[in-house]
Amino acid sequence: MNTKAFAATSPTSPLGPFAIDRREPTEHDVAIELMYCGVCHSDLHFAKNEWGFTQYPVVPGHEMLGKVTKVGAKVKKFKVGDLAAVGCMVDSCRTCDCCKKGLEQFCVGPGGTVFSYNGADKHSGGITYGGYSERVVCDEAFTLKVPANLDPARASPLLCAGITTYSPLKHWGAGKGKKVGIVGLGGLGHMGVKFAHAMGAHTVLFTTSESKIADGKRLGADEVVISKNPDAVQKHAASFDMILDTVSADHDLNAYLSLLKLDGTMVLVGVPPNAQPVQAFSLIMPRRQLAGSLIGGIAETQEMLDFCGKHNVQCDIEIIKVQQINEAYERMLKSDVKYRFVIDLASLRA
Ligand code: NAP
Ligand code: ZN
Ligand code: ZN
Repeated sequence: MNTKAFAATSPTSPLGPFAIDRREPTEHDVAIELMYCGVCHSDLHFAKNEWGFTQYPVVPGHEMLGKVTKVGAKVKKFKVGDLAAVGCMVDSCRTCDCCKKGLEQFCVGPGGTVFSYNGADKHSGGITYGGYSERVVCDEAFTLKVPANLDPARASPLLCAGITTYSPLKHWGAGKGKKVGIVGLGGLGHMGVKFAHAMGAHTVLFTTSESKIADGKRLGADEVVISKNPDAVQKHAASFDMILDTVSADHDLNAYLSLLKLDGTMVLVGVPPNAQPVQAFSLIMPRRQLAGSLIGGIAETQEMLDFCGKHNVQCDIEIIKVQQINEAYERMLKSDVKYRFVIDLASLRA
């Protein structure tokens, strides 16, 4: 199926129109006419090859949401007209230990995890293309149900920003009686604040942006700390059970590690292109842990969407046309996002 998309063709070229071919749905596939796609900072890292493994042309976008237009003969979960969503993965081996545990993002079987863009596409033999496009075709096993009470545009960023914060907060036990720090109030961070608050944790936001203090509180933070002020940061020394770091650029991890109490854990989800130095002293006293987390498995992503439906957790977004994507990337680099850009894909069809 001929499909309009937006792609980057080199690290320095702006994204622009690009035509891709989507397969006709096979028996387990769902074809989705995309309505919205959120804009993740990973899309920008990829478009600009900041992690060093981008294959061009890259069609970014892994927060996809739309309406089902066609289903394969064996599809059970979806029918034409349903709302459906696709996140960061479109396939995995499904048989390795990780897949069996519902951790498809860490698949170690043949082919490994197939990410939604820049992944090895077993159908085409080329690479996968993401959601800055009119439609996507995905196996129903990797397609998510969207609760009917959620606004479709505001739900789309749940597919990455939502699950990437929900999963580690749950895994490391954010909840009542716990003090949880969220570093950075961007797409991931604002969902981290909402989830930590919804789970009942005492939630502290660390932001570099004074303009985000009021929003931080509105979104659910009990306290907001300007991270450029070392005294304000150190008032929280050795007091956190968990800190979730969503920052996309160079910053000092040691300052945050010093805020963990005994056996506290700092979880990195942000991926700055450069390595960030860690002092051994930051960890050994008092027995702290530094960890990482990658999105979340398919079952947990569905659980997170259902949690959002039940508790009415939605993303705070700014809707853009696809033609504004390069400008949106520039604003993202200036931390000027409130709090996720979402592409209205009607602009691609126009
Ligand atoms: P984003 O919307 O651009 O937010 C990043 C935030 O980090 C900014 O809004 C800003 O918050 C803060 N920040 C930016 N530059 C900073 C600096 N130099 N020093 C300190 N703070 C800074 O990005 P996002 O979409 O949330 O993604 C964040 C990171 O997570 C990216 O690296 C992305 O690739 C990664 N990611 C990882 C996963 C995973 O599975 N692990 C999934 C998705 C994304 P303030 O204005 O509040 O300071
Ligand atoms: Zn993402
Ligand atoms: Zn596997």
